Amino acid sequence: MTALTSGALGQQIIDQVKRLRYLDSLEQVVYCDRWHEMPPASFDYHNQLDGYLAQLRHEAVTAPAVATLLAAAKKADLARTGTVYEQGAYRLLQHEQDEANRVPAALQTASANMDATGQRLWQEVHEAGDLTRWLPFVQEQFDVKTQWAQAAEPGVPVYEALVHRFDPEYSLAELDALFAQLKPAVHQLIAENHGMAPAAADEILTVDATPAQVQILCDKAQAMMQMDPAKTVNYRQEHPVSVSVGPDDARPSTTLAHGALFAVDCLMHESGHSRYNYGANDLVKQAGLWGGIDGALHESQSLFYQRVVGLSKEWWQAFYPEVQAVLPKYRQIAFSDFYAAKLALHIGPNRLDADELSYVMHIAVRYETERAYFSGQASVAELPGIWNAKYHDHLGVTPASPAEGIMADVHWGSGHIGYFQSYVLGIAYAAQFYHALKRDDPEAFPALAGGDMTRINAWLREHVHQFGQLFPPRELLRRATGEDLNPQYLIDYLKERHG
Ligand SMILES: [Zn+2]
Repeated sequence: MTALTSGALGQQIIDQVKRLRYLDSLEQVVYCDRWHEMPPASFDYHNQLDGYLAQLRHEAVTAPAVATLLAAAKKADLARTGTVYEQGAYRLLQHEQDEANRVPAALQTASANMDATGQRLWQEVHEAGDLTRWLPFVQEQFDVKTQWAQAAEPGVPVYEALVHRFDPEYSLAELDALFAQLKPAVHQLIAENHGMAPAAADEILTVDATPAQVQILCDKAQAMMQMDPAKTVNYRQEHPVSVSVGPDDARPSTTLAHGALFAVDCLMHESGHSRYNYGANDLVKQAGLWGGIDGALHESQSLFYQRVVGLSKEWWQAFYPEVQAVLPKYRQIAFSDFYAAKLALHIGPNRLDADELSYVMHIAVRYETERAYFSGQASVAELPGIWNAKYHDHLGVTPASPAEGIMADVHWGSGHIGYFQSYVLGIAYAAQFYHALKRDDPEAFPALAGGDMTRINAWLREHVHQFGQLFPPRELLRRATGEDLNPQYLIDYLKERHG
């Protein structure tokens, strides 16, 4: 994999892809600005700007010159004869054109505007759990996304088409089978769990910390992750996200609202996205294929750092002394007690501070709730009741209010509908990567206990990060691990930690 192109045609395809990526970058600048910088009164103008960028992208992809280029690539059989970079760029451009030809520009713009409106509305109403303002929006959002799905994949069930926006290689039947395999295994592990009692764990994990102390811990965690400071800018906000504006640009954020250790946990998740975003090799960057594959693969990298690493004994053997140095409370608490508290079950209505067993059930609830709506089994008005009933069935808890229930996550606001399966696929991929990494480099995790993540980062870069969007997700998984998705690795991983 040394040559970028085999000729002028491939170079033209790559040039076209790079122009699209510049537009992606502009969209990300605007998105980042809306989260972090924009004064509230600028919202409508931002929305117009977003709509115009969506229109520009649509025009760029549907231009006659692109059609000519793609026809020439088809004739030349570039998908088989091109370099791997040409093949990747060709596949991306063809996919973009197919979608743009099916989904009218006005519908793309309406969908993008709905996401911007929803993101702002969620920020205004979620704390109060104001369903009277939220549900009418959700109805509009679901209507637009239904139109989008019907245009993008006519004849395919609406929810499957929405899932395909993020995880194009999975059918609803496969996802149903995945949840059917995972749920009983997780239920059993929860039932048999003999870990630290939640109240005792809470007492250990709850700690007073100043913003400055939290900042020190966040900086130390990123240093141990070997984040590149030249490529990283950190933000603070309520709902952590990770934005990437270019191939050497990562903007993770975390929240200070839920305590020092939670801030580190969220930052490790978002920084995992960030490492994947800026980890592409030079030729992948030159082909415009940087940034990683959205959906399950991106979540696999965030969850690898947050859970596989961030809940490992080895990580805490290295990081706990840092915590003890910054927060005096922990100088009195033995490592074994602290680590048992980190692994304790934390079953409640909140996905973000869930333990990793009950986390699977949080994902199942939103997947099943969305699936019920889009298959016509429920109206929007019925969703809060369905949500609460599913929490009761799956986790034995009932959210006290919409704020800690159906409105706790921004996703329906920001347009991430048909997205939650990415989290469970992501942790399943992460567990499969973990298995392959330990097989390939048995010394990687022992080295982490000494504070050295070099070997773990090197494996992820070699097998995942460097390829950016070069391969389809399942092909990348097979190349990295030697097999297609096998959820048993997730069950094995959860048993190793919590069995
Ligand atoms: Zn994530």
